[in-house]
Amino acid sequence: MKQTVYILTVILLSSLTANAQRPQPKDTEVWTPVPKVVAPPASAVSAPADAIVLFGGKNLDEWVSVKDQSPARWTVADNIFTVKKGTGNIQTKRLFTNYQLHIEWRIPSDINGEGQGRGNSGLFLASTGGGDDGYELQILDSYKNATYSNGQAGSIYKQFIPLVNASRKPGEWQSYDVVWTAPQFNDDGSLKSAARLTAFHNGILVQNNIALTGETVYIGPPSYKKHGPSPIKLQDHGDPSPAISFRNIWVREL
Ligand code: MG
Repeated sequence: MKQTVYILTVILLSSLTANAQRPQPKDTEVWTPVPKVVAPPASAVSAPADAIVLFGGKNLDEWVSVKDQSPARWTVADNIFTVKKGTGNIQTKRLFTNYQLHIEWRIPSDINGEGQGRGNSGLFLASTGGGDDGYELQILDSYKNATYSNGQAGSIYKQFIPLVNASRKPGEWQSYDVVWTAPQFNDDGSLKSAARLTAFHNGILVQNNIALTGETVYIGPPSYKKHGPSPIKLQDHGDPSPAISFRNIWVREL
């Protein structure tokens, strides 16, 4: 009997130790510094003459569902579209390398939840596979909503804290303007040059020509895997808070 108790205790302790050593999501959360809050100016940017319009208000013809390439099933109404929770991420039919992009998004005024569970979506600057593979510029309600700094709106998820917090209130339209330079790879799959990003949130610089350390990941350190021209992807996050909306999306290839 004594021996059985001893063996069970050893098994329990060793499994607890294994759990303690396993990488956890919180290992890569950075909570300080907290970016300074800066009130954004009113602004709107229409598509330039040479832009490809990815959403002009009428339909999602430029987009497909990531999981099976079928037509995107998010809801289009009143010249905007809204995440249809549970239908999964959507991505562009077109593939891109280097580009300038404009996108507008709105956290609903009846948003609820907290932290990462409050208006979570994401702009994946290049989608490198199903699910959340790629490089995510976080979309989140970061208006008086505490979370880890490297996971708030304007962050490159778990890699780069935004320079400031330029968030508008829920219910108001917000914008990202980005310049994306895709990573380059050698024939053997090794990295030749890192991806670079400059991003403005509501017209305010939040990422200044940063060099990404790899794809953005929930658990563990980022790393690169070789890819070529890629779709741009939007995230259907699994949290239960009211769904966010998008409008006026255009891109200029560089
Ligand atoms: Mg997200």
